[in-house]
Amino acid sequence: MKCRRCGKRAVIDIKAHHTAFCRDCFILYVHRQVRRAIAEYRMFSREDKILVCVSGGKDSLALWDILLSLGYECHGLHLDLGIDGYSERSRMKAVEFAQKRGCTLRVISMEEMGIPVPKLAKKSRRPECSVCGTVKRHFFNKAALEGGYKVVATGHNLDDEAARLLGNILHWQWEYLAKQRPVLPPVSDLLVRKVEPLCRLSERESAAYAILTGIDYILEECPMSKGATSIRYKHALNILEDSMPGAKMSFYTGFIKNLPRLSRAWEDLHGAIGEDSGGSFSRCSECGSASFTDPCNFCRLTIESGLRPR
Ligand code: SF4
Ligand SMILES: [Zn+2]
Ligand SMILES: [Zn+2]
Repeated sequence: MKCRRCGKRAVIDIKAHHTAFCRDCFILYVHRQVRRAIAEYRMFSREDKILVCVSGGKDSLALWDILLSLGYECHGLHLDLGIDGYSERSRMKAVEFAQKRGCTLRVISMEEMGIPVPKLAKKSRRPECSVCGTVKRHFFNKAALEGGYKVVATGHNLDDEAARLLGNILHWQWEYLAKQRPVLPPVSDLLVRKVEPLCRLSERESAAYAILTGIDYILEECPMSKGATSIRYKHALNILEDSMPGAKMSFYTGFIKNLPRLSRAWEDLHGAIGEDSGGSFSRCSECGSASFTDPCNFCRLTIESGLRPR
């Protein structure tokens, strides 16, 4: 198998694009896909300061590496979720990456705040991943506002987004469908813009990028992910992709193209979405965060669990 670009020996084939690349050309391809996503969805400009959420896994570290390679000003944020053993090992990967590249990384520890995710889930009697999602959304936005960042970038890839889309469609979750997009615009001075620059790259491509560029990432999965429905959706989509290369990409990008039709659902729920639109957001009276409800989801969770952050 030869590289389609330079003719050298290919190290990876990409069936969805009927192509194959050597290491160097694959890296160029990945950078091009990310540049295309940034431009196509108007994620950010050269002037924007970006906060990259890094878990220590392949996607988020690859994202940080790619944005640095493309010359963006971006710093890292790692949330130590307080999951026994796994969180320490994940944190170490994020810290080591930052040290190697001489990059700024902020670490926020849930354990130190007295709200480790497993304990919060137990006390509030809610599923770990739902608690984890609430905690992440809260601290990603809070840290971005505190640090003066315009944009929060996460490492969600095409497989993540296609699986999320499949789940939202299977259950016809209109509110989630209306909010699923590679860019969520800022809302006044309460919520910063959220972007997913890896949305054009599959999980396999993102892993290959991490391996070929020598990124040392955590290989083990989060112990809480066992039995997660998203894994089943990914599996179903992989079966489809095997016999129909490109199916994931056309499923996801087709949905994004048709998003304007769904904007009515969003408007019905929260008022028009748009740059600096305040919608029906207000501030949580407990923590001051943007929220549709008072208290916000994060404060309701910590109040219910009896574990308030220190
Ligand atoms: S699997 Fe669940 S608990 Fe673990 S990091 Fe993901 S969302 Fe959080
Ligand atoms: Zn090549
Ligand atoms: Zn709050």
